[in-house]
Amino acid sequence: MKAQIIDGKAIAAALKDEVRARVAQAQEQYGRKPCLAVIIVGENPASQVYVRNKVKAAAYVGMDSRLITMAADVPEEVLLAKIAQLNAEKAVDGILVQLPLPRHIDEDKVIDAIAKEKDVDGFHILNVGSLWTGKSCSVPCTPRGVIHLIKTTGVQISGKIAVVVGRSNIVGKPVAKLLLDENATVIMAHSRTADLKAIVGLADILVVATGKPGTVTGDMVKPGAVVIDVGINRRDDGSLCGDVDFESAAEVAGYITPVPGGVGPMTIAKLMENTLECFIERNERR
Ligand code: NDP
Repeated sequence: MKAQIIDGKAIAAALKDEVRARVAQAQEQYGRKPCLAVIIVGENPASQVYVRNKVKAAAYVGMDSRLITMAADVPEEVLLAKIAQLNAEKAVDGILVQLPLPRHIDEDKVIDAIAKEKDVDGFHILNVGSLWTGKSCSVPCTPRGVIHLIKTTGVQISGKIAVVVGRSNIVGKPVAKLLLDENATVIMAHSRTADLKAIVGLADILVVATGKPGTVTGDMVKPGAVVIDVGINRRDDGSLCGDVDFESAAEVAGYITPVPGGVGPMTIAKLMENTLECFIERNERR
């Protein structure tokens, strides 16, 4: 194997330790701990694992957390009323609603009901607008983690060609904007891209977030490229894999993230950082 592995687990652990130290400092300064409220609706097993990990991470970094569970058939108004209550609570600094939500609930309406300054996921329309117009805002956790991982390689982003495969609101689009902010020349590819191999082959930095195993194989990767695999897919045997064929891509890339142990742990570490930053901002504004 030629590529160096980007150890997301270790990098996330170091970031959590850093956040933990900053939480202790902020607690001393402001007289209380940051508090993250996590709402989960229904019993999606993957969502339950994510939520458990978020609550565990909050405890690790020294934050309070509140886990609010709601039945899958909870009326939308009840969820919105809960968010309104958390928005008004002084002691709550961050609010996260685990996605996806059951079909009868309007996801956009729920996200936009969260107070902008407590939107630790950075999905609120005002935070999205702020991100795209270069104003200070909550930046979505996974894209923020992706940039952090790229930076740990020491490879300069500025001036490089970055290809992002996938254009979702939660991953592809914000990753592209953050790479643009780092002065990369950004190309976005998606399911209608005519010649994905030709486009991927241009990438000095490649971020793949399609939810489709094998979207990128080694023969598509530019030698020496930084490859960040955001995908989390479950194989028939229960094991996890990304959207990139790791074995073949690692023969060609310069740096590559594994799945699991790449982007996943960073998402949670960045959530902790976002929550801390919301806490500090709210206290500073008083
Ligand atoms: P979405 O399904 O919302 O978006 C997938 C994107 O990939 C779409 O833009 C789609 O194109 C594009 N796409 C699908 N198939 C292909 C293909 N064959 N070639 C090129 N482009 C393709 O997914 P998400 O962005 O929400 O998630 C992507 C992956 O990342 C998933 O595996 C998810 O589990 C994972 N994920 C991981 C996180 C982490 O913490 N590590 C966090 C969030 C997501 P089009 O727009 O044309 O349909």
